[in-house]
Amino acid sequence: MSVAPEVSFLDGINMMYDKAAALLDLPPGLADEIKQCNNVYQVRFPVKMADGIKVFTGWRAVHSDHFLPTKGGIRYALDTDIQEVEALAALMSYKCAVVSVPFGGSKGGLRINRHMYTEDELERITRRFARELILRGYIGPSVNVPAPDLGTGPREMTWMADTYTSLFPNDIHAAACITGKPTSQGGISGRAEATGRGVQFGLREFFRHPSDVKAAGLTGGLSGKSIVVQGLGNVGSHAARCLQEEDDCRIVGIIERDGAVVNEAGLNVRDVHQHRQTTGGIKGFPGALYVEPGALVLEYDCDILIPAARECQITRDNAPRIKAKLIAEAANGPTTFAADDYFAKTGKTVIPDMYLNAGGVVVSYFEWIRNLSHIGFGRLQRRLEEARGQNIVEALESLTGKKIPDHLAKNITHGPEEIDLVLSGLDDTMRLAYQNVREVKASKKGVTDLRTAAFAVAIEKIALTLIERGIGK
Ligand code: NAD
Repeated sequence: MSVAPEVSFLDGINMMYDKAAALLDLPPGLADEIKQCNNVYQVRFPVKMADGIKVFTGWRAVHSDHFLPTKGGIRYALDTDIQEVEALAALMSYKCAVVSVPFGGSKGGLRINRHMYTEDELERITRRFARELILRGYIGPSVNVPAPDLGTGPREMTWMADTYTSLFPNDIHAAACITGKPTSQGGISGRAEATGRGVQFGLREFFRHPSDVKAAGLTGGLSGKSIVVQGLGNVGSHAARCLQEEDDCRIVGIIERDGAVVNEAGLNVRDVHQHRQTTGGIKGFPGALYVEPGALVLEYDCDILIPAARECQITRDNAPRIKAKLIAEAANGPTTFAADDYFAKTGKTVIPDMYLNAGGVVVSYFEWIRNLSHIGFGRLQRRLEEARGQNIVEALESLTGKKIPDHLAKNITHGPEEIDLVLSGLDDTMRLAYQNVREVKASKKGVTDLRTAAFAVAIEKIALTLIERGIGK
């Protein structure tokens, strides 16, 4: 069997795009227009440190602004570059389209080893980077709204939002310039775990379709499935914990930078996370086999492999040795084009990143709406719904002469908190998007895998928006 050669991350995404676009009936030139990155801004800026001035390089790419604002995380990594940022911005455009979030696609990156700096230094670097992006229109509630990604979190988002507010104190919507803020700063309940939750909801939906489960070589439901997770950061830790605690999955392997830990009976995700917090790594976690190099555990025999660390982890080289029946892409771009080509040819099921890790942007969309409306979800109707529920319970008890069991009465009288509404909206989005993607896989001629189907969904939606608007006129 001939397998495609390895190409760069950006070329790989564009080749996956081309594969899907070739199956669609688009006006000439439109597929190319959608594929290209609209613009990318590179900035070099100095920051005064205790030991002298340091110069940093960062990027913010806008892939598509068919909807505004554009949306996408900002990552802090030593090896990030312009191509990576462009590739990730493209994925954001497609991701938003797949999950029907009305944003264009963007992404940012700062080349930095954040571990080399104190918190105070990181704050100064982040504020300066944000200022550069804000002043050139690459951050703003109606134009471009960043969120956390690799190496950044609520703390960095707060610094960036505050920088925006200090530059535009009269902008009443200033808080909507960034998502992924702490709840005390206008963030939304559930954003921190949203991407991991989305992975969980996406997997639950996959297992609601027996023919998809069978095609992957699996049987039954999600419960009891063995899982290997790569990356115990924001996305991986929440996904693994939710799947273990709420779906009875067995986390048999966890891969981190310093190696992997394996236990066929199951690892307690909270304990491994705690061990890493305390010791700085996963090595030495009690009761588990330690494997170095950790990447070998990607090849461990399990039901589901969840790469949740970085791009290009599953390659032409290790793809033939991957034993997991299902690959659930929580990271962006963990499978290279060549590995994907191998899986497509051998019939291995891959639930693609652009669908499965969209939970973060979905809940970011809710946060953005919350900031624009200046009110938390559920605040107006919670007590009303509680009172209505109470009336229903009392009416039922008086009509039947029987007492409604406590757990049912509690459910009926519970007025939704913000987190309930966020999870409901996320669950609904993940279910509908998967159903849409699998329908396209089943109905569109030439589409044989979920990734091509997801690309097809995204391209057609973006194309329709552009055509209706009258592109190029
Ligand atoms: P993070 O920095 O919180 O966590 C990444 C984890 O992966 C870290 O624990 C890191 O030590 C580990 N890691 C890095 N390289 C590794 C390697 N080679 N082997 C094993 N472990 C490694 O980042 P995150 O926010 O969890 O993002 C992870 C992935 O998910 C990225 O691809 C990111 O683009 C994607 N993503 C993140 C979000 C989000 O909301 N944070 C949303 C969508 C997609």
